[in-house]
Amino acid sequence: MAVKRHVAVIGAGVIGAIVAARLLADSHRVTVIEPDPPGGPHCASFGNGGFLSPASIIPMSAPNLWRKVPGMLRDPKGALTIRWRHLPALSPWLWRFLMAGRSPQRVEETARALNQLLSDAPARHRALADSIGRPEFIRNDGLIYAFHDRAAFETDAPAWNIRQRLGVRMQELGEEELRDLLPALSPLYRFAIRITDGGHCTDPGGYVSAICDWVSARGGKFHAARATGFDLSGGRLGAVQTDRGPVACDAAVIANGIRAPRLARLAGERIPLQSERGYFVQIAGTEGIANIPVMPQDGRMANIQVAGGLRASGQVELASPDARPDWRRADILLAHLRTTWPGLKINDQNVSRWMGHRPSTPDGRPVIGRASASADIIHAFGHGHIGLASAPATAEIVADLIAGRTPASEITPFAPARFRRSR
Ligand SMILES: Cc1cc2nc3c(=O)[nH]c(=O)nc-3n(C[C@H](O)[C@H](O)[C@H](O)COP(=O)(O)OP(=O)(O)OC[C@H]3O[C@@H](n4cnc5c(N)ncnc54)[C@H](O)[C@@H]3O)c2cc1C
Repeated sequence: MAVKRHVAVIGAGVIGAIVAARLLADSHRVTVIEPDPPGGPHCASFGNGGFLSPASIIPMSAPNLWRKVPGMLRDPKGALTIRWRHLPALSPWLWRFLMAGRSPQRVEETARALNQLLSDAPARHRALADSIGRPEFIRNDGLIYAFHDRAAFETDAPAWNIRQRLGVRMQELGEEELRDLLPALSPLYRFAIRITDGGHCTDPGGYVSAICDWVSARGGKFHAARATGFDLSGGRLGAVQTDRGPVACDAAVIANGIRAPRLARLAGERIPLQSERGYFVQIAGTEGIANIPVMPQDGRMANIQVAGGLRASGQVELASPDARPDWRRADILLAHLRTTWPGLKINDQNVSRWMGHRPSTPDGRPVIGRASASADIIHAFGHGHIGLASAPATAEIVADLIAGRTPASEITPFAPARFRRSR
């Protein structure tokens, strides 16, 4: 019979919450360590684009991206910017980031690895939402990537070809079909790809909170504190130290998003993690506009109807996690929204704005695996742009590692030690 353990899950964003739920299903004792209300606006899991997309397997770093870096530095309105002042601190990460996408082969390797986490993400979330008795949080209606025309789609052909090779199911939509599905969409968009197996989350923050409520109702404990370190003796874990006393346990999962590197280091690994800061604008009182979520490819922002209104989320701003938000980036999203949905009524009262941190590794792959300082500690962070979608598959791997089972997925591409080799 499998050994039952007492697992401390550090962080209750979407990764920690779903890991905790999965560990309870294996009958472990679970204590979640989290200083803030789970799923609140402090975490990335609150404000994301809600996309559960099997197509999100292409990493950000692409061949020849380095040629565009000077332009990014100059253009404060682009979809990807770098704050000048932060460039020296960001440089080592940025170099690895550019190197990670230096050849089409490297890009395809990462896509293949991420495909393991994303190919059935919508179905996994469907099963989870049903199992916690909250089916309304997940919808499986497909996702639309909209282009001005077929030529715009073809400029990104290498990425779409990889998706096709790896089995992402997609359907081309001509102008008329697109109009039938999304009558309010600007006529500027005349071609689209529908990801037929795609899904979305109707309220990402609420979903995390509901999962944590379920964990609590099933006997999981919550310790409102910040984890600060580990009590290790002879490589075995005795407790997680927190700013409100130790939590005795015999296993731990590091799932605290952008703040993970400090704990990861105490567990033996130096992980280059940076914040790819993202923003949303949300327009309250908008019903029936984006009935199916849309990603207009010129703005690269997820347009989705969530509980609080129509949300446009996106933008990548490389800057320190502690730098103040630059709300001009949210204004860029707002300007895109006005163009994408010409009938949308926007005024000072119905717009809200948010900024959050995608916890991003340079190679676009999460960090999932055993810690070198102790096999009792599991890393589960660094999910960048895909943390919501990939959380159930991540939780499955973590559950296997905690139980001593061999994961069904090939986890070498996510190995925490991979950054040592390239140092
Ligand atoms: C604008 C934007 C759009 C996005 N769109 C999508 C999308 O459409 N689809 C998708 O799949 N992903 C998307 N993402 C990415 C996704 O939101 C993240 O990858 C995911 O939320 C990361 O989850 P997490 O649990 O690792 O981190 P978080 O959600 O940030 O949670 C980390 C938790 O750890 C806690 N914590 C921190 N330090 C400690 C400590 N020392 N001790 C205990 N707890 C601690 C924090 O309080 C927090 O609650 C988007 C992200 C952004 C910013």
